[in-house]
Amino acid sequence: MNRSDKNVSTLSTDLEEGTELNLDYGKLRAIGNGDAAVIPVAVQDYETREVLILAYVNQEALAYTLSHGVAAFWSTSRNELWVKGATSGDTLELVDVRVNCEQNSLLYLVRPLGAGACHTRDADGIARSGCYYRRIERICISNTGPEKQNAQSWRLAFV
Ligand SMILES: [Zn+2]
Repeated sequence: MNRSDKNVSTLSTDLEEGTELNLDYGKLRAIGNGDAAVIPVAVQDYETREVLILAYVNQEALAYTLSHGVAAFWSTSRNELWVKGATSGDTLELVDVRVNCEQNSLLYLVRPLGAGACHTRDADGIARSGCYYRRIERICISNTGPEKQNAQSWRLAFV
């Protein structure tokens, strides 16, 4: 089941802190149905090479990024310029911008100046450096029903 199959919206705490795999396959379709002319941008720590976040940019956000030297995005949910760190202080200083072969995505290489690029916090209340703090793990479920076969399933585990 993915989120678009559900009638009730999933709480963000379940999405962000839970172990249920609940991928939002409708994300790009929702963006495509809107007015935002955007491309994805991956953001990587220039020194550690950790992939910090994936976001979207339009012309305005890229122009802001290049002229101010800090990572800025286009928020597809709020439909506005999102200067990372403007309110949180978690600014991402721009080192370099790379463009992919087909010119339909970007890579920002950055130096984080704040606590972390992700808005979530770990169990100790510390800001996470990046968004990719969980991995997908396979679990086996013993089926004691009439079919007596083991089913495979997937869950999230914190890295
Ligand atoms: Zn995040």
